[in-house]
Amino acid sequence: MILFENVTKTYPRTTRPALDDVNLEIPRGEFAFVVGTSGSGKSTMMQLVMKEQDVTRGRILVAGRDLDRLPERKVPALRREIGCVFQDFRLLPNKTVFQNVAYALQVLGSSRARIRQTVPETLELVGLAGMEKRLPHQLSGGEQQRVAIARAFVNRPPILLADEPTGNLDPDTSLGIVQLLDRINRTGTTVVMATHDTVTVNAMRKRVIRLHRGVLVSDMEAGDYTTGSIPRVRLDEETAAPRRADQPEVSDGHDDGDPAAYAGGAPGDEADDPGEQSDTMPPIGRDADAPRAKGGIFRRHKAVQTSDR
Ligand code: ADP
Repeated sequence: MILFENVTKTYPRTTRPALDDVNLEIPRGEFAFVVGTSGSGKSTMMQLVMKEQDVTRGRILVAGRDLDRLPERKVPALRREIGCVFQDFRLLPNKTVFQNVAYALQVLGSSRARIRQTVPETLELVGLAGMEKRLPHQLSGGEQQRVAIARAFVNRPPILLADEPTGNLDPDTSLGIVQLLDRINRTGTTVVMATHDTVTVNAMRKRVIRLHRGVLVSDMEAGDYTTGSIPRVRLDEETAAPRRADQPEVSDGHDDGDPAAYAGGAPGDEADDPGEQSDTMPPIGRDADAPRAKGGIFRRHKAVQTSDR
């Protein structure tokens, strides 16, 4: 579970906060998009979860850890529980697909036997079976991103953060990547994906958290962030009255950003994405009674858990 309580982040020598009093709860096993134009604070949010940055005010809990109180020596353990995927793939150019993924386990001290077993399994999961010996430059952009996802997921972290993972990919390839993240989510891994790619967001019908100039301006269940859908309603107390769907907790604020900036992924020239595989993974790790919209009202479980592991 990821919890932001009144989180403000102001970078040194800047006046406007990159994140401004953000409250947010992402339960274990959820898939959430974080959307917003460039500079809205998406990467800052990711970096705070990784403890690559510290909050200026407020509190962040990640998998039961209060990041403000986490001693430096325990930060590597936190990061082992969080896989990361980036727009620019960040593969080692002189290592093969297998070696790129294996490397993530080697640095954790995994045995050769475990590496020999887990790396092929993971490459198969991401649709790259048979490509183990290729170098990154022999892959399409979509395939390179699949290697990066395999590397991020090979030690089965409970949380996967993806910061604009489709930013360099064409729309069809992007959809394949997000569908792969969805499959990973259904193994029980919490997935948070920052993006400004409307097309894939709307295709997935997942939770959409929207930032604008550092402020969380909307939070939609099964969101289509061009039209809006069901606002999430926080019930901090079991007894609290739920807000009506037509009275969102946080107004959209009628973003004055450029709508064109949301108009789909960047054109690309990537080809031959391996495409979607058949879904064989069971939907485990999701609450059977996960919050769902009912009669236009979104009811939440208690907002705060202290530990989810
Ligand atoms: P996004 O990922 O949505 O593009 P960012 O989180 O990168 O947004 O940036 C949010 C704001 O914080 C922007 O105004 C950006 O200029 C500023 N910012 C981000 N990183 C730094 C930094 N290291 N130092 C100063 N300002 C930063």
